[in-house]
Amino acid sequence: MLKTNYHCHSIFSDGNDTIEEIIKEAITQKLEAIGISDHAPLKIDCECNMPLSKFNKYINEIEQLKQKYNQIKIYKGLEIDWLEDKQNLDYINLEKLDYSIGSIHFMKVAKDTYKPVDYKKEFQIETVKDYFDGDFNKYILKYLDDIKKMITDNSPTIIGHIDLYKKFNKGETLFKEDTPQMLEKIEEILEIAKTKNIAIELNTGGISRGYIDEPYPSIKILQMCYYRGINTIISSDAHNKKHLTAHFEIAEEMLKKVGYKKQLDLKQNIIPFFYK
Ligand SMILES: [Zn+2]
Ligand SMILES: [Zn+2]
Repeated sequence: MLKTNYHCHSIFSDGNDTIEEIIKEAITQKLEAIGISDHAPLKIDCECNMPLSKFNKYINEIEQLKQKYNQIKIYKGLEIDWLEDKQNLDYINLEKLDYSIGSIHFMKVAKDTYKPVDYKKEFQIETVKDYFDGDFNKYILKYLDDIKKMITDNSPTIIGHIDLYKKFNKGETLFKEDTPQMLEKIEEILEIAKTKNIAIELNTGGISRGYIDEPYPSIKILQMCYYRGINTIISSDAHNKKHLTAHFEIAEEMLKKVGYKKQLDLKQNIIPFFYK
């Protein structure tokens, strides 16, 4: 299978390494292609995201490194958050990008109040208690609704960690995963993804960071993607170059088990993407 990674973070957002260090590591690990996908600047304050003032430098730096290292394909990406009522991204020059990952990390829970999904376990429990009557099912359905809205209005190249809400749910200690209601909502998302040719990533980041034992998404959801002929792509969501291809063997095994013969090849699938 093609060895690539289109989901990694550098010091431009919340990663540990420079873009050049990541590229060098990708060459050492003999990757065919590497995509840098730092967190896009947002309209809410968050230290994990790239400040808008650094965006041009980010693009220029990747372009320069593309010239310097021609033994590997290098792509300019961003992991872009969709924020309810703050979706407008006209402050970023998206035309400079080769691709995008559309993700939900924050949910609007009340007027001008946004809560992170994947910050800390206690924090997630508190959000569910304070804004969703302690009902994880309600919380997850809202998260999935946001993903649905994100891809209805926009066309990211790839949907990031579609079931990120399970990050702190190892052993299903907080809630039951893949309930009929959740799967029904995911089905609606996949129908839209299929029509718009949006890929789903198989993201090993939660394993590398010790939270869960399986990638995002679960095998159940991956099967649903396969039945619909949706492209998938293995990524590590690396925030440290040591994790650039961490646990790819688990992801590859899962793809094969489900029936996938290949994963998305970005160079043959530079899909026109758009954000409103
Ligand atoms: Zn993410
Ligand atoms: Zn990420």
